[in-house]
Amino acid sequence: MTKPNSSLIDCALDAIRTGKLVAIPTETVYGLGADASNRDAIQKIYQLKGRPADHPLIVHVQAPPSGSKDIEQEWLTILSPWTRHIPESALILIKHFWPGPLTLVFEKSRSVLDSVTGGQTTVAIRSPAHPLTQELLHRFGGGIAAPSANRYGRISPTSAADVEAEFPNNPDLLILDGGPCEHGIESTILDVSGEGSPKLLRPGSISPSMIKASTGIDVVSSGNTVNQPRVSGTHLAHYAPHTPLYLYSASDLASQLDSLIHEAPDAKFAVLVWEQEHSAYEALLKAYLNNLTFIALAMDPALVAKQLYRLLRDLDQGQYQGILIPSPPKTEAWDAVRDRLQRASFGSGPSSNNHVSN
Ligand code: AMP
Ligand code: MG
Repeated sequence: MTKPNSSLIDCALDAIRTGKLVAIPTETVYGLGADASNRDAIQKIYQLKGRPADHPLIVHVQAPPSGSKDIEQEWLTILSPWTRHIPESALILIKHFWPGPLTLVFEKSRSVLDSVTGGQTTVAIRSPAHPLTQELLHRFGGGIAAPSANRYGRISPTSAADVEAEFPNNPDLLILDGGPCEHGIESTILDVSGEGSPKLLRPGSISPSMIKASTGIDVVSSGNTVNQPRVSGTHLAHYAPHTPLYLYSASDLASQLDSLIHEAPDAKFAVLVWEQEHSAYEALLKAYLNNLTFIALAMDPALVAKQLYRLLRDLDQGQYQGILIPSPPKTEAWDAVRDRLQRASFGSGPSSNNHVSN
């Protein structure tokens, strides 16, 4: 990670204080940030992203300085402008996982802007672990509201160059370059606003079993279809490349390729395969030598999460007629990656109208 560069942070601080947008690096993906208490600044996020006004944003807050004497009290003070009530279980989660890739949804305090919460009575909050953004938050003192720094429905950016590619030559957007993102997919979201156990609204790199193992807290499914954040209009499409993306199971790959290549004999396809199954596909590769580029994927959920958006962005530039990717195993460790891939494949393609999510 790059070292905090103080003059860059000065510029970012000035931009946030004067109601401008700043793309902030986090350990998940880059965010499109603005002062969470400035209505006009928040409008700029929606405008630039092309995001519907009822899709809420995450408020990013600073972490207490390391070595704080009463860490619990410090967190309560940091959260007090935003939340009405902090359940005991939420405090335990905060102490274990913040700063980090975990977003918590609380009952909101009255002063939180409707445009930040999409008109809901709850507010989503996270303290990100990236040192540059922590420094910015610490010096700003307030909250920075930020969704992912991509155009509505498209692939989240995991580097400063990706943000620039999403919003090229935009003089109104300052991009704070904090290097490539460590986790590469969006945060886990838990709803702690109701009675009972926290509810999983979106899977991420912190899984329910990791939470259970380190805190003893049970996380339950949200009751919505798996992994759907509680927002009106949220649907299946998101994180999508322009190139059509197909999920395949090993037994279907040959027939899927037969029909795709039958329809477009000269087309090129990128086929991602699990590293250890690479040799099983040699015959297929030979049969369609001119049509296929094979790319090996390590069967490691954290590594795939880290590389996924980079890979999709790069392949999207590759003039392929389609990208084929293996369906991940149906185990909890792969939930976050499977969720992103299903949404990416649903919303993919040059003229998809399926972009009804963030
Ligand atoms: P993004 O940063 O692009 O992933 O967008 C922010 C995510 O936070 C979206 O998936 C929102 O649906 C979710 N979110 C924000 N506020 C709330 C809330 N009050 N309740 C449920 N989900 C929320
Ligand atoms: Mg997003």
